[in-house]
Amino acid sequence: VTEHRDPDCVFCKIVAGEIPSERVHEDEQVIAFKDLSPKAPVHVLVVPREHRRDVRELAGDPALLAHTAEVASKVASEQADGDFRLIFNTGANAGQTVFHVHAHVLAGGTLAEGEM
Ligand code: 5GP
Ligand code: ZN
Repeated sequence: VTEHRDPDCVFCKIVAGEIPSERVHEDEQVIAFKDLSPKAPVHVLVVPREHRRDVRELAGDPALLAHTAEVASKVASEQADGDFRLIFNTGANAGQTVFHVHAHVLAGGTLAEGEM
């Protein structure tokens, strides 16, 4: 889906396989891979294949947003006990550093308050 790709985007490059990642799920709409610097025993990013800046943009596609949540849930069940924290950092003031929307799935053990 070339028209939905940002040539300077690190997650577009991961989607394309040009930067390696440890994938735990992939389908036609999203991929999920382990975060490079995990903040919890399980820390996976669920990323739509098409470039969208943040969850404000993703909300314009409710089916894709729902699918992202479903995959997060599946990952938490496969990699941990099924409980998880789902975080979309949205905008630089909220700590977003990669401007290709990604859902952080944090799971495993008991997560501390304020972890991430
Ligand atoms: P943000 O702060 O934008 O919500 O989160 C970006 C996340 O992406 C960070 O947790 C960071 O560790 C992760 N990250 C950044 N670059 C890479 C990369 O090249 N590979 C992987 N697996 N994770 C990355
Ligand atoms: Zn991108």
